[in-house]
Amino acid sequence: MAAPDTSSRASVADNYDAVIIGAGAGGISALIHLRNLGLTCRLFEAGEGPGGAWYWNRYPGARFDSESYSYGFFFSPDLFREWNWSEHFSGQPETEAYFNYVVDRFDLRKDMQFATRVSAARFIEGENVWEVALADGTTCRARWLIAAVGPLTTPQLPRIAGIESYAGEAYHTARWPHHPVDFAGKRVGVIGTGASGVQVIQEVAKTARHLTVFQRTANYMAPLKNGPVTPEEQTGIQSRYDELKARVSSTYAWFLHSPDPRSIFDLSDDDRERFFEERYNARGMAIWQGNFRDILTDRAANDLISDFIRRKIRERVKDPQTAEKLVPKDHGFGTRRVPHETNYFEVYNQPNVTLVDLKATPFEVIAPDGIRTSEGFHELDMLIYATGFDAVTGAFEAIDIVGVDGRELRAEWRDGPVTYLGLMTPGFPNFFMSAGPLSAQGNIPRTCEYNAVWVAELVRYMNENGLTYIEPDPAAAEQWTAHARDVQSALLVDEVDSWFTGVNANREGRLERRVVQYRGGAYIYRERSEAAIANGFPEFIKK
Ligand code: NAP
Repeated sequence: MAAPDTSSRASVADNYDAVIIGAGAGGISALIHLRNLGLTCRLFEAGEGPGGAWYWNRYPGARFDSESYSYGFFFSPDLFREWNWSEHFSGQPETEAYFNYVVDRFDLRKDMQFATRVSAARFIEGENVWEVALADGTTCRARWLIAAVGPLTTPQLPRIAGIESYAGEAYHTARWPHHPVDFAGKRVGVIGTGASGVQVIQEVAKTARHLTVFQRTANYMAPLKNGPVTPEEQTGIQSRYDELKARVSSTYAWFLHSPDPRSIFDLSDDDRERFFEERYNARGMAIWQGNFRDILTDRAANDLISDFIRRKIRERVKDPQTAEKLVPKDHGFGTRRVPHETNYFEVYNQPNVTLVDLKATPFEVIAPDGIRTSEGFHELDMLIYATGFDAVTGAFEAIDIVGVDGRELRAEWRDGPVTYLGLMTPGFPNFFMSAGPLSAQGNIPRTCEYNAVWVAELVRYMNENGLTYIEPDPAAAEQWTAHARDVQSALLVDEVDSWFTGVNANREGRLERRVVQYRGGAYIYRERSEAAIANGFPEFIKK
């Protein structure tokens, strides 16, 4: 990894055309596109290097579960053709190296300032600029403010009595240290079995003296089927830039996979079983994103695929009691994020692994040397929190953002976010979000890259028309928000608690389901976004 550039801290200028927060896929995309317009830009990033989520989530086992070449940037065909992904699903070290490569390849580092947290931003009415405050007390101003802070970047610790008293090694997956962490010979506890928990559990189980997994909700999962990209595959992928770009730009959720347009009931039982089997053994999200369209809307259709995955879990886990704990029974397949695994279920066949079902035996207290549940005490030398994030809105709300008339973003979103395409929110002029609340869900870097182009088009329009103030018409934002609500209400996902529906038991006031992402399809999202550009941003207040 390149050395962090903190040398330029003292040279923060008073004024920029644009300030960008975050050096993940969204911030890098925004910097590229706004710099191409000739804007002076400054990007602030709390981490000491680029990558965003892929800088912070450096836990053993962290890797993509969408194909590497669908996850990386598409803005440059040359970049696409010259970077060799070594695996179909890249591990974190390679992904972090990729981000550093991109930053250097496009000479972005000179406009980036690492190890710098933005603490607040306030819109100065009349001057139509944002005053941005950094945690070290420095301030600067910018006409345009782009928060590329990420939907899954504010780590969340569980609320368990005594958590602060734990005296062993303790790590959150999303704040993993840079030094090596050794599990060998240790009794390790992992709390959480979402996508992060699953990946770290697979690694810890290899060397820990004992691993205790604390599972609250059993999740459906499917094999990742990772493998090296062979030289022939590499050549094939790199020569198909146009095709792959078009593909990720046309699917429901920006992935390479798209749903089968048939109904699940169009097939005979045998044909359906063969279809499921083929998808289960295919790479990545095939069985989720490439399944029949109606599994996410029709309970009877969903039951068929849910039963298939339940059977797979029972086949793979030898002890029937453990298998039953791992089999989800309170929601349907695909209604929460499906983690993709590599021998995850086989981990529970190992003698050094214990599964604790927190629904049956909940936490009572964390003590200096372990965790007490209602069934007994688990002594632990190390505790790993894979407990997720204050998702989607959390990173935006972590910054003290104040718009017109002293309106606070946090307060505005108390009952759920209201946005125009997840890009802007009323009362916060000249403020843009990358992959913000109610933007199209799916392959996050694709949303980020797409959003950056949209923002650049808007800024170009403003500059060409001599305008300095823009915010969405409240009615237009309400209309988009209501549309997102309508779309979600027709999906089974709307009946299930998870970060997909904004439920976060670790944060006060977040037990009710909300609409935080747009689930109507990236193609509809794109149509709406492109119409705004083509028609000169009609649904906005402009000055
Ligand atoms: P997550 O999906 O929100 O999972 C958090 C886990 O912690 C859940 O099992 C949750 O249980 C458990 N948990 C939270 N609070 C708890 C408490 N107080 N007591 C007991 N258990 C508790 O978070 P994540 O695994 O970090 O993943 C978040 C998202 O990041 C994923 O959905 C995915 O989109 C992304 N991600 C992607 C990759 C990848 O690309 N490969 C890898 C990792 C993460 P409940 O389910 O009962 O709430």
